[in-house]
Amino acid sequence: TTTKSESIIQQTSQYGANNYHPLPVVVSRAEGIWMYDAEGTRYMDMLSAYSAVNQGHRHPKIVQALKDQADKVTLTSRAFHNDQLAPFYERVASLTNKEMVLPMNTGAEAVETAIKAARRWAYDVKGVTDNQAEIIVCEGNFHGRTMGAVSLSADPEYRRGFGPFLPGVKVIPYGDLDALKAAITPNTAAFLLEPIQGEAGIVIPKEGFLKGARELCTAQNVLLIADEIQTGLGRTGKLFACEWEGIVPDMYILGKALGGGVFPISCVAANRDVLGVFNPGSHGSTFGGNPLACAVSIAALDVIAEEKLVERSAELGQYLMEQLRQIENPVIKEVRGRGLFVGIELHGAARPYCEQLKAEGLLCKETHETVIRLAPPLVIGKEDLDWALERIRKVFA
Ligand code: PLP
Repeated sequence: TTTKSESIIQQTSQYGANNYHPLPVVVSRAEGIWMYDAEGTRYMDMLSAYSAVNQGHRHPKIVQALKDQADKVTLTSRAFHNDQLAPFYERVASLTNKEMVLPMNTGAEAVETAIKAARRWAYDVKGVTDNQAEIIVCEGNFHGRTMGAVSLSADPEYRRGFGPFLPGVKVIPYGDLDALKAAITPNTAAFLLEPIQGEAGIVIPKEGFLKGARELCTAQNVLLIADEIQTGLGRTGKLFACEWEGIVPDMYILGKALGGGVFPISCVAANRDVLGVFNPGSHGSTFGGNPLACAVSIAALDVIAEEKLVERSAELGQYLMEQLRQIENPVIKEVRGRGLFVGIELHGAARPYCEQLKAEGLLCKETHETVIRLAPPLVIGKEDLDWALERIRKVFA
């Protein structure tokens, strides 16, 4: 007999485009760090929806904000003001220490916004000749799936069959300051990077790269744009991963946990000299800055501060990595990470291990074939981590 989960999976593959390869588990309920499948089996979430659920599933405060706002007004479009947008702006501006904020919905849209801002800044402020602006990105980057974002990618899997791509993109090896220096021309608008590469497999840049990039960009009048969509808001044990080298980018790109896993919202934040290049008609989004998203986001940011999730991520991440490094198994090549953003790199395929971990009640997802990403909701407790570690040890025994 087919279980409910099996029939849902069958139905999903019958009707859905085949652009994902999910683990065979059907989540039908979740709370905090736990998810339950259609049969009621409990799993610990070790992915947090790619770090969108840093605050834990259905955090009561965030869900309450959603409900309260749903009873007032949900969508106005930007043709009118709404009373949630300004407090959201103020909140993000103070968090990022930037003067201006521009809201969108998904991460990729915020990346598009950053590209447009950088290009217009290059023409209007820096004085680059029209249509000559260049953007420098890193090998292994992941900035999303829109045409702009895949134009930045160096990964054939993300690009095949989707050309022609956006021109004016230069790719340098991640961590290579000499290559960055050589790639910068008078036409360079921006250097866009993830301060830690998430989708590439929790790749931490060579020490000094962020600092050196900041210095080069400042000296050459190039915008440094940090895609902190996955690394930001506490995931790496700092509010922003840029803090690991004490740098401040000219623009932050935020998403994912900005909506607490409850409602999509993303944004870019920068000072007036950069974001001031937009004027009415130049950019926008029907849903961007909607009151429901803004109310949810304010609550989501409250939770990060009130529950000290940044500090928690730092402490527990340290503990998790220490424990993982004690596991002796030749298939493990490296354990690396910052905060609760941890990768176990294997000498072989990670997928079979993710399947075994699932059988033990841990939901992890492999990234780039050989890396198991461990990124639980930041509300996780030490006892819960010990529970997870017991199962991880068993699978690698
Ligand atoms: N940038 C980074 C660093 C990401 O990790 C992601 C998503 O994984 C994105 C951009 C794209 O965000 P979204 O899937 O919300 O478009």
